Amino acid sequence: MPVYEFKCNKCGLLFSKIRKIGEFNSPECPDCGSNLTEKVFSLFSGTKTGGSCSPSGGG
Ligand SMILES: [Zn+2]
Repeated sequence: MPVYEFKCNKCGLLFSKIRKIGEFNSPECPDCGSNLTEKVFSLFSGTKTGGSCSPSGGG
């Protein structure tokens, strides 16, 4: 199952939640219980590049 990361806009907590297919509603913050959460993309750690593969790095 896909696990997405969410960020709470109230307390700033980062947490991961399992979302089902077609489920896009924001979960409640496990810390403060606020609904002011948004999905964040932190699958790729590092700097974002404009569609460019760097040759460096072991593969
Ligand atoms: Zn919170």
